[in-house]
Amino acid sequence: MHITRRNTKAIQVGAVKIGGGAPISVQSMTIPHPQDVKATVAQIQELEEAGCELIRVAVPDREAAEALPKIKARMTVPLIADIHFDHRLALQAAAVVDCVRINPGNIGPWWKMAEVIRAVTDHGIPLRLGINGGSLERPLLEKYGYPTAEALAESALNAVHALEDVGFTNLKVSVKASEVHMAVDAYWLFAHQSNYPLHIGITEAGTASTGAVKSAIGLGWLLAHGIGDTLRVSLAADPVEEVRVGFEILKSLELRHRGINVIACPTCGRVEIDVVRMANELEKRLGHIKTPLNVSVLGCVVNGIGEGKEADIGIAGGQGGGILFKKGKLVRKVRSEELMDTLIEEVERMAEEQGEADSRQENRDALPTSLGTSSPALPTVNRDLPVLPNR
Ligand code: SF4
Repeated sequence: MHITRRNTKAIQVGAVKIGGGAPISVQSMTIPHPQDVKATVAQIQELEEAGCELIRVAVPDREAAEALPKIKARMTVPLIADIHFDHRLALQAAAVVDCVRINPGNIGPWWKMAEVIRAVTDHGIPLRLGINGGSLERPLLEKYGYPTAEALAESALNAVHALEDVGFTNLKVSVKASEVHMAVDAYWLFAHQSNYPLHIGITEAGTASTGAVKSAIGLGWLLAHGIGDTLRVSLAADPVEEVRVGFEILKSLELRHRGINVIACPTCGRVEIDVVRMANELEKRLGHIKTPLNVSVLGCVVNGIGEGKEADIGIAGGQGGGILFKKGKLVRKVRSEELMDTLIEEVERMAEEQGEADSRQENRDALPTSLGTSSPALPTVNRDLPVLPNR
């Protein structure tokens, strides 16, 4: 599959570039109230360890806003403040964070938004316009009757035009809904009328498994059509899982090449080792590896090595243990109690040895999949909504 990424304006959130062909970044959000600085920082560190590239923290009240400097001081990736209802929290947060997310549907009259724009401009940080199907402005709800993709896209375009009218363009946009079709259509409509970078996501997608499926379908469709510059997979689960699923979606489309790709056989009557437990353990214990490596866990040696030819390294079960192989070639036999630790040590060594390849890979990630002369320029603004694609 060839993916031509949408040609978007680039913005900078801390050290992370979003849009303009930059690698599609993966972000997540913390769960504890920020006033609990210890718990928030602990979760941020887990997210950073999992490879999360941008972290958003909800700022529901003044106590949360006051905790932001302490949190920011103890993290390495950019911090985004998530603000609803009270624009004064955005003014406070803008002095500390790398980006402010604001929902125009619930922030109130324009003068409040104008104050927020002044604050983010003064601090040189971008804004995310986070449009949400659950909090559309009253006039749009009256016009459409209920939240629709067209209403979401129109809400976003109205907000973008209002900001452009006062000269503010340092922004990214999201048009999320919990219904996959609605979110996908809204992003499609917006993307064909504006070239601001898009934060894509299916909001309130569901539990770890249902939410991952919904997100993979919705975000997968958008990404395959070149839409999306940064993403969050919203799950009712540990946010580390959101990061894992986000990268899996990007890796499946070959848009990012970070970390371990675990290949596990489905098992059958020939299985000699606990493939399911081992594959799950591998994903957990090797989450810190950044070098792209295919690691396979196969149930038996009968077909194992052959089936694992695509893997850089792997194990195949056998009587009393198994074998370790690299690039489809037998390396040595390993006793069952040492199988897991041996594989992990070998993967870590391999990743270490490929440190140079890893940096080359980062450069590869930094290149747009396909941009430039072959990429058709999209109109910056076109107030006529295009017809949705026939899907
Ligand atoms: Fe069955 Fe062995 Fe293939 Fe796994 S690797 S599916 S156990 S034949």
